[in-house]
Amino acid sequence: MLKIYAIGGYSQIGKNMTAVQYNDEIIILDCGFWMEKIMSYEGEENAASLPVESLYKYEIVPDDRKFFEEHGKQVKAIFSTHAHLDHCAAIPALAGKYKCPVIATPFTIEVIKRLASERKEKMPRLIKMKEGNFFEVSKNVKVEFIHVTHSTIQTVIIAVHTPDGIIVYANDWRFDENPIIEKKTNYARLKKISKEGVLALITDSTRVDDESKTFSEATVRSMFLDILPGVNNKKNLLIVTTFASHIERIRTILDMAKKLNRKPIILGTSMSNYINAAEKIGVTNFSKEAQIVRGEKNINKIMRKINKNRGGYLIICTGNQGEPNAVLTRIARNEFDLNLMPKDAVIFSSRTIPSPINIAQRADLERKLRNKGVRIITDVHVSGHAGREDQREMLEILKPKHYIPTHGGMVKLASAVDLAGEEGYELGKTSHILQDGQSIVLIK
Ligand SMILES: [Zn+2]
Repeated sequence: MLKIYAIGGYSQIGKNMTAVQYNDEIIILDCGFWMEKIMSYEGEENAASLPVESLYKYEIVPDDRKFFEEHGKQVKAIFSTHAHLDHCAAIPALAGKYKCPVIATPFTIEVIKRLASERKEKMPRLIKMKEGNFFEVSKNVKVEFIHVTHSTIQTVIIAVHTPDGIIVYANDWRFDENPIIEKKTNYARLKKISKEGVLALITDSTRVDDESKTFSEATVRSMFLDILPGVNNKKNLLIVTTFASHIERIRTILDMAKKLNRKPIILGTSMSNYINAAEKIGVTNFSKEAQIVRGEKNINKIMRKINKNRGGYLIICTGNQGEPNAVLTRIARNEFDLNLMPKDAVIFSSRTIPSPINIAQRADLERKLRNKGVRIITDVHVSGHAGREDQREMLEILKPKHYIPTHGGMVKLASAVDLAGEEGYELGKTSHILQDGQSIVLIK
């Protein structure tokens, strides 16, 4: 018997959680936050330490209560695909009660550990497993990590091998032919498991309605090379804001600082947390080439130094969504000893996540910057999610018997099954729309 449970991530973009059952054994794949709910609540840092009941109440975590009641004892292991909070951040709050280990790549485990340090719950055993390896859940169920490119490092596609067939869980991913730090996706392995027979593909559908292919991380490097000569001069302040977890992007920005002969300064807690995690596992060594500053007093000290030699530095920080507590937003509110002046430039190496609260906060931030005469360059960015043509390529490589889109609300899921339709899948027979709380038996 093979059954899939859609616990979270099938009715919205966020709080991803899926379970796969083979006979009486179950494994959980991902367990993350709904970021939009956090933003409308009171900020990421505070939300991470909320009591479990509040996390459920505000819909920040997947609602696994009924699933746990009925099947909690059958769960043998929890796996996470990558370090983005919508895939792993609910683990510290929810995983303990399942009384089983949590397995993820070393970078993801470091991030989970840091998140867990903010909570009281006893964490289950955390096991680091590198890409390319298998975890033997039982005699019948083996879980494989296959490397895939995405917008944070050490992301994996999870292949669940069972006697009934292979379930491939690809959530999130993009096909990047020119990654900056990482290797390309392990296409050879995907082709191999395709030959063995993939029973179902559960896939990220966030950008399936984008009628294109998602371009490589290397294209962002060329965008920077186009932009920087025009905004760089000896007297102006240069700020680049991006996502804290985007280690490859930060690598590119550090290279740009070197090119401009500006000293890179990385500011803020969340960015330094992710960088620390990457350094701990030996993937990067950013602290050798950049000054990483956290803590109010230290940030203010460096701000005074930057203010005296504005053309000598390049500030890298969070705040690209206009989050009220992020460094860039606070700079714009004059909370530090650093004055923004006309002709200073802020480059948004990001895209605004299209939720009403983000759009409003980001507009407010841009207005504050413009009022000070700051030049703004937006969308120096490529997405971490697969476009429609990448999705098609994945289907063609894996040739799964069943197609189950996730990581989207109804509109995204409908667009995904529409694409599957173009590839010969039939809704209700071989392609399936599930909503949170629903399940599907693929083999009786
Ligand atoms: Zn992601």
